[in-house]
Amino acid sequence: MVMGEIERETQVVVIGAGPGGYAAAFRAADLGREVTLIDSAPALGGECLHQGCIPSKALLTATHLQEQISAAQTMGIRVDGVSIDPAAMNQWKDGILVQLAKGLEQLAARRSIEIIHGHAIFTGSRRLRISDGGAGTLSFEQAIIATGSRPIHLPGIEIDGERIMTSREALQLRTIPERLLVIGGGYIGLELGSIYARLGSQVIVVELTEQLLPGIDRDLVQVVQQALRKHGVEIHLRTKVAGLQHQGQHVTVSLAQESGSTAALEVDHVLVAVGRRPNTDELGLEQTRVKLDARGFIQVDTQRRTVDARIYAVGDVTGEPMLAHKAAREGKVAAEVIAGEPAAFDNVTVPAVVFTDPEIALCGLSEVQARAAGYTVKVGKFPFRALGRALTLNATEGFVKVIADAEREVVLGVRMVGPNVSDLISEAVLAIEMGAQLEDLAASIHPHPTLSEALAEAAEVALERAIHIYHPRLKTR
Ligand code: FAD
Ligand code: NAD
Repeated sequence: MVMGEIERETQVVVIGAGPGGYAAAFRAADLGREVTLIDSAPALGGECLHQGCIPSKALLTATHLQEQISAAQTMGIRVDGVSIDPAAMNQWKDGILVQLAKGLEQLAARRSIEIIHGHAIFTGSRRLRISDGGAGTLSFEQAIIATGSRPIHLPGIEIDGERIMTSREALQLRTIPERLLVIGGGYIGLELGSIYARLGSQVIVVELTEQLLPGIDRDLVQVVQQALRKHGVEIHLRTKVAGLQHQGQHVTVSLAQESGSTAALEVDHVLVAVGRRPNTDELGLEQTRVKLDARGFIQVDTQRRTVDARIYAVGDVTGEPMLAHKAAREGKVAAEVIAGEPAAFDNVTVPAVVFTDPEIALCGLSEVQARAAGYTVKVGKFPFRALGRALTLNATEGFVKVIADAEREVVLGVRMVGPNVSDLISEAVLAIEMGAQLEDLAASIHPHPTLSEALAEAAEVALERAIHIYHPRLKTR
């Protein structure tokens, strides 16, 4: 200990104040623990609030609205001269972040949680060193690691934060590129690529694998891919960046396709979005018994305990899916386990949403996964174009698909692509968690006219008693 530094003690220390960390801290405090929450960032909320979920959704909403206004003519609304003020849009977005971070600060204060802004490093299984703002040492009874993840960099491509960006810089909207190359056709590449395409950039997406959003059902991705192409986004699959040279305002890129052919293109900005890696390398974990897997993620059990009995880990540091709602649930579980409650991360499904236009949402098993798991499946698919509410919203692309066990008719999975499916998926999550059958979805009355009817309709299709779709094979009971 250096002279003049503070030596503190706490019952529970939480490192990282993102959705995993603050959920853990708040729950632990509510369960009567003395809690210290440490984050190296100046405000609470983590990557999700400041550089991820919230700013990206704010910009997606604003740019989607602009697009809707421009398309309002279809509905008999004449609008002239819609234009975008990026600085004002940025200001609106930043205002939301400030408001939410303030809310978290107040919620932490109400719970008497001690907040330290500094970088935490373990010096043992019961002690941390904090550098920066809150310099000193902290001994604890239990620690919860929630330090999140950061963008993966590609070898040979240096991120300068100006021309060559990660999602962090791209969400600042400093400039609207004329031609933007997006490396990686995953969640970030497509969400941020959509924002810039709507802002007027010519967006080129380069994806290494054979489809955008690898791992997500092909029929869902196909709908989004077509919509992106319709909006002028250029997509190169099975392609990687073989070289990149940056001079002044120009970035010259050479692309190499799996087939062996090559191409060159010139852009003015590049967004690198090829995945994220866990923040586990600068934590002093070698001073503890915490174990990492081959990719650097912390190994935990269903109670989010690491191998080191007093240390827990939640959120992105524990591996995929790297999603805020999974982090938050894990944070609550860890806090409850520490408080002696019989909690476990025993959720049947973690839903995923891609906020493209149309949106993709999914939970449970896909058709392929269900078959691979040994089920004989029954599938019901209902298109939004057959739904009154979708037509009145002028948003008819996409469908809802329900996958069920043919024998017991238990819902195994739901796949959605279409308008507002980010909200519609929660009913499917509840159905799966409760072991609902197709009958439960089909016979529950869904208000009309709403998009939610699509899920009940898809269940009716699976039960072969749909009325809004005619198929000679379908029969009424
Ligand atoms: P984080 O939110 O990453 O928080 C970790 C915190 O730990 C940070 O504040 C960091 O400063 C702090 N920290 C790290 N190391 C230390 C240390 N040694 N000492 C002190 N503090 C430290 N997920 C969704 O579910 N929905 C979305 O729509 C969505 N959109 C996204 C969009 C983008 C552009 C990005 C990048 C991500 C998005 N995500 C989304 C993913 C989501 O942000 C993460 O899954 C989520 O933030 C993980 O939460 P966490 O608590 O594990 O960590
Ligand atoms: P990702 O894993 O979703 O996508 C990365 C993509 O880059 C993949 O398709 C991969 O095949 C491709 N790729 C890898 N190396 C490449 C290369 N050299 N050249 C071309 N393509 C390459 O990762 P991401 O988009 O960076 O997002 C990171 C994580 O953040 C996501 O996995 C997700 O967990 C989270 N996130 C979630 C949301 C949401 O929930 N809506 C939004 C954004 C981010």
